[in-house]
Amino acid sequence: MTSVQRCDQCRASYDELDPRVRCACGGLLALEHAPPAEDGASLRRLFEERWGQRNDVNLSGVWRYRELVLPSAGERAVTHPEGNTPLLRRPAIAAWAGLPQLRVKHEGHNPTGSFKDRGMTVGVTQAARLGASAIACASTGNTSAALAAYGAQAGIPALVFVPAGQVALGKLAQSLAYGAKTLLVRGDFDACLRLVQQAADELGVYLLNSINPYRLEGQKTIVLELLHQLCWEVPEWIVLPAGNLGNTAAFGKALREAKALGLIDRVPRLASVQAAGAAPFAQGFAEGFGARRTVKAETIATAIKIGDPASWDRAVQAIRETDGVVTSVTDAEILEAKAVIDAAGVGCEPASAASVAGARRLHAEGVIGRDDRVMAVLTGHVLKDPGVLLTYHQDTDPPPARANRPIEIDADLRAVARVLGR
Ligand SMILES: *Cc1c(COP(=O)(O)O)cnc(C)c1O
Ligand SMILES: [Zn+2]
Repeated sequence: MTSVQRCDQCRASYDELDPRVRCACGGLLALEHAPPAEDGASLRRLFEERWGQRNDVNLSGVWRYRELVLPSAGERAVTHPEGNTPLLRRPAIAAWAGLPQLRVKHEGHNPTGSFKDRGMTVGVTQAARLGASAIACASTGNTSAALAAYGAQAGIPALVFVPAGQVALGKLAQSLAYGAKTLLVRGDFDACLRLVQQAADELGVYLLNSINPYRLEGQKTIVLELLHQLCWEVPEWIVLPAGNLGNTAAFGKALREAKALGLIDRVPRLASVQAAGAAPFAQGFAEGFGARRTVKAETIATAIKIGDPASWDRAVQAIRETDGVVTSVTDAEILEAKAVIDAAGVGCEPASAASVAGARRLHAEGVIGRDDRVMAVLTGHVLKDPGVLLTYHQDTDPPPARANRPIEIDADLRAVARVLGR
């Protein structure tokens, strides 16, 4: 074996095929891989060669980087493939943020429409290697969609716990369509998380929440692929939405390892953006991370509606090591950013728009410089949450500034002409 799982707290280590997802002491586990034989320059060449090859594993934007993900499993990966998401330059979005060098990395282009696929390909590959009889997660929706799809591909029954009545329509639809047993829990996300943990302990299903160390290894590739797309030229900022903080933690780990391996010579600054109604981590940052905070979460951006983030300590480390910042944006700012992103022909779900709204706010506050190269991550696809979208454009009175109301007409050419102002 080439990797071990090490406890954050007591440093105990476990074999990479040990099925536990927490240390005996209660600490979280993280993967440590044997250092690859190649130096930074050789790794960069290897990744570049693989990108051009017609083979699902090398073509995957996750497994292409397998030396940093899970070296021993690469050739047996349960892969769609996933990743290979575009890095877009859209002047309308950049202008709204006041940041001419802003680009967006669109993770909504993954197979189930969110970055969760990057974690799930690794998590379900691991579940298959362990011979798991069932897999489970608690989710605000996207994790369950990804778990359901990859579980179906691997032939492993999937069980998802979601807060009843609080999951966006597209996500719930996916989880049903891909055949997961879908439990609508009367409670919030944090209650789902506690319940699925108990179920894993008592009932022996393999837990694929974001604390699962294999998922985080997959999510690191958002950053690796982004740096690869930039020809390993490090930008000033990477901005991302933050809920349970798995991604913030994964980004920090990716940057630490990329620098240690010589893939890059310095790290960009991370900016994690929370919704104002679900911003314990932003509060913690403002307080110098003195104490861990929890809140009762409330926001329209359901993917980041989390009051007690699981990966807190690792996310603190990520922010500290990258000289990063944490901020929050209101639902109104999120909706406006989303309307701008959508109208640029790009589109994203509400939580994703928090990154662009956050970049704009950090620029207005003088934290991000006008000419900084800013890479904002759009985490999910526009069709994930049609409910929020239709409410904004069709059902809000008075209509928001950027609302695009549908127009009902008689089946008559003159009506069309009137709409065109003729
Ligand atoms: C999961 C998710 C997030 C939040 O990521 P965390 O790792 O929980 O901080 C943000 N946006 C979307 C679309 C998500 O699915
Ligand atoms: Zn431990």
